[in-house]
Amino acid sequence: EGLAVECKWARGEGITKECPHIYEKREKKLICDDVTDIVGNTPMVRINSITQSEGIKCEIVAKCEFLNPGGSVKDRIGRRMLLDAEKSGKIKKGDILVEPTSGNTGIGLSMCAAARGYKMIITMPEKMSAEKENTLRGLGAEVVRTPTELPTEHIDSHMGLAYKFTQDLENCHMLDQYSNPSNPMSHYDGTAQEIWDQCEGKIDTIVLGVGTGGTVTGIARFFKDKNPDIKIVGVDPHGSILAEPAELNTHEGSYLVEGVGYDFIPRVLDRCPIDKWYKNNDKDSFHYARRLMKEEGLMVGGSCGGVMWAAIEEAKNMAEGQRMVVILHDSIRNYMTKHLSDDWMYLNGFIEEKNVVENYTPKL
Ligand code: PMP
Repeated sequence: EGLAVECKWARGEGITKECPHIYEKREKKLICDDVTDIVGNTPMVRINSITQSEGIKCEIVAKCEFLNPGGSVKDRIGRRMLLDAEKSGKIKKGDILVEPTSGNTGIGLSMCAAARGYKMIITMPEKMSAEKENTLRGLGAEVVRTPTELPTEHIDSHMGLAYKFTQDLENCHMLDQYSNPSNPMSHYDGTAQEIWDQCEGKIDTIVLGVGTGGTVTGIARFFKDKNPDIKIVGVDPHGSILAEPAELNTHEGSYLVEGVGYDFIPRVLDRCPIDKWYKNNDKDSFHYARRLMKEEGLMVGGSCGGVMWAAIEEAKNMAEGQRMVVILHDSIRNYMTKHLSDDWMYLNGFIEEKNVVENYTPKL
């Protein structure tokens, strides 16, 4: 409760102060003008088997962000950052856009850039999947891989290099998801508003993963404006430093789940309206991502598994008749050779055995 009160002053500070919030109301078109128009308006679906087998009493519903045209929640910011920059005159057709990304923002931006006539350069740490790189190249982007272990402030990190390109190349702009107000705004006006409408305001708790923090900031500010009692739960992998209080962030070292966690606090992340944090590990994340696919038919990425694991932990404290919303950030398409593959799971020690042909007996 203390947080909810404090967050009243935090709203309007920082990002919103720099950029007054211009509400974007989108009309529904029968025929869309280009791919930017088909971003958002994703469905919500109830989680059934997992809740039942875990003995959960409350209802859990998932916002299917993996069904965006580029396959993730980040299509929303790719669209909004590009359209806002166009409207303000910062960029014009033919310019070069460069963006440091764990992949999904790159895909969202490259998709919109392809449709609206911009050149795209993506800087992305080596850890991120080959599937993302191929998708980016397919969308016409130039992709530069950077060493995963370099700290963000290093000039050869994905952020350092992107910044360098804006200095070296003509008409080259970084829309910069880490500091661009259009990032959280796209969720305030879009993701959050849609959830509110789809749930007809009946929501008790929202659980979601945090990377740049744009999604959680936009969603948390929206829901705290509507009803400060709605609980916002952030999920942060061990090895990242985003969770509060800081004592939660004890584990050092790397993690394999993509798109969440950082070694710095992005400017767009407002942690004030976040009521609770869970720290999660790779194994639980990948197992829950596979469970979402096998038991619910939802074909999602590893960060969604982390969210679902935390959601089940949190839901153990919730009563019948309450409703929890989880965000499913991206799709399995990014991870066809990663956690979808038994070989990869086995090699990384996340499963004890993989299928062997010798002496095979069907398990069904
Ligand atoms: N999950 C995945 C797979 C992502 O790519 C991202 C974006 N980096 C997130 C979660 C978190 O979103 P945000 O950057 O808005 O915090």
